[in-house]
Amino acid sequence: MLYPWQLDDWRRINAERERLPNAWLFTGAAGTGKLAFAEHMARSLLCDRPDAALNACGECEACRWFANSGHPDFRRLTPAGEEAEEKTARRLPLIRIEAVREMIEFAHLTAHRNGRRVILVEPAEALNPAAANALLKILEEPPRDVLFLLVAHAPQRLLPTIRSRCRPFQLSAPTSAEALDWLRGQGVADAENELAYHGGAPLFDHDPALAALRRQFLDALEQTTFASVLQVAEVIDKNKLSLAQALEWLQQWLLDLAGAGLAASVRYFPDRRAKLDALAARADMMELMRCQQEAVRLAPYGQHTLNVRLQLEALLMGYLKIFAPARPA
Ligand SMILES: [Zn+2]
Repeated sequence: MLYPWQLDDWRRINAERERLPNAWLFTGAAGTGKLAFAEHMARSLLCDRPDAALNACGECEACRWFANSGHPDFRRLTPAGEEAEEKTARRLPLIRIEAVREMIEFAHLTAHRNGRRVILVEPAEALNPAAANALLKILEEPPRDVLFLLVAHAPQRLLPTIRSRCRPFQLSAPTSAEALDWLRGQGVADAENELAYHGGAPLFDHDPALAALRRQFLDALEQTTFASVLQVAEVIDKNKLSLAQALEWLQQWLLDLAGAGLAASVRYFPDRRAKLDALAARADMMELMRCQQEAVRLAPYGQHTLNVRLQLEALLMGYLKIFAPARPA
């Protein structure tokens, strides 16, 4: 499937298909559909009867395999195991050498079908060093009729030698109008603010309950009273939210607060601009920095602190100090 903002990219890449590379490296902003694009390409390359625009037909044997159990000439390398499933994991889950070895064996097999095999690596920066070196080796001497599709959110973190073996393809991000249209089509409430919050990248995990908690948390930060912050610390705790989640929201809020005060720019919460401006006008920037530092200090404990409520209460008490009347010098 292509997203509506990818149609030009699709035409552009198809013009390159007269001379297929050994590997494409897809780059572009996170949350804008790079993986979907790479999968669309994989399906198209393996389909028996692609249409005039080179989209996979969706009906042939190859397409059915793709949709069901998996195509025998297709492999996907992604971080595996428990680490990858833990969305809140503190470290980036890695693609391990064993997985790359298995993929290399596959690459040297004879293809089951029309002679081409496709290997998708996503995200390529998740290769651990040994795995990256193994991939590099096969990119340097690619077996016949094997095409690699690498997807990278942070291509600067790839080995330069891997990058240089791939043909780069930069994918377009949607304009904000395109992203908003799409989000509204998905029935996302408050699409404009959600999009701003997610930095203009529309493919975030939309969780209405979490969005509601975020609003509640921000409301409390706006109110700047003991009662409001104590109450919201309790809500966060009762809903079993991690300290890490609250820290993320607080840090974004503090950045916007500093932005409103210093540079007159607000990034995450433009819908709360008026309130941010008013708060920034009575903020002590030194206390604000202190609060930011405290949030940074707590970050390593974000996933496994024993008492979220206590930590959060202490942190938010520090937040309130930003707005306390100036102390005598
Ligand atoms: Zn097909």
